[in-house]
Amino acid sequence: MSDQNGTNSVYRDYFFNIWRTIKSIAIGMQITLKYCFARTVTVQYPDMPPVLQPRYRGFHWFEAEKCIACDQCAKACPVDCIYIEKSGARKIDKETGVAVGGALLRYAIDYQKCMFCALCCEPCPTDCIHMGNIHDMSAYTREDMIVEFTELAKRGLQTPQPLWMQRDDAPEWALSRRQEWIERAMPVREEMIKALQESGAPKKEKAAAH
Ligand code: SF4
Ligand code: SF4
Repeated sequence: MSDQNGTNSVYRDYFFNIWRTIKSIAIGMQITLKYCFARTVTVQYPDMPPVLQPRYRGFHWFEAEKCIACDQCAKACPVDCIYIEKSGARKIDKETGVAVGGALLRYAIDYQKCMFCALCCEPCPTDCIHMGNIHDMSAYTREDMIVEFTELAKRGLQTPQPLWMQRDDAPEWALSRRQEWIERAMPVREEMIKALQESGAPKKEKAAAH
């Protein structure tokens, strides 16, 4: 009798497993089939802007005048791709909100290694490093993928710009995005440039491509 029960239970499990397998394949295929018959959409980038979500994590934008070169971001970076050099201790002047003291000689991010994880933004005590909204950066050499943010700041910029976006005949959406970046940096541009030029640090040629 017990043998009979054992055999029944084996059969039951056998057919139950078959049923579960068929059911899980059917659920998976439902999603696949839905996309098989969906209308395909090709975005004509760069003529048309890509659709990015508001919290998209693109190439950083950096407020150099607020950076106290504390290294918190570099320590948090899991791939060690942030390089910071300073000539002395820096702290925020409470009246102006601008970092004073030693010069920020270098703030660079190596985008050959960056994973866009945003872990560098979390610990920043002055909230000066942010994930940006550009997903594309072109360069002719691997070295050009290291963005020298201090050199950008000396030119009044906070974020790297793809080469094609620097052209005057870029599509309308790209020109207006570039304008947004310029206007964002406008109120602090004077402090940013002053804070950096006082350093007398040698210019890093690599930044010229961005
Ligand atoms: S986004 Fe992530 S990988 Fe890139 S610099 Fe920041 S911490 Fe490093
Ligand atoms: S954590 Fe912020 S203030 Fe400190 S070095 Fe990084 S960007 Fe500068």
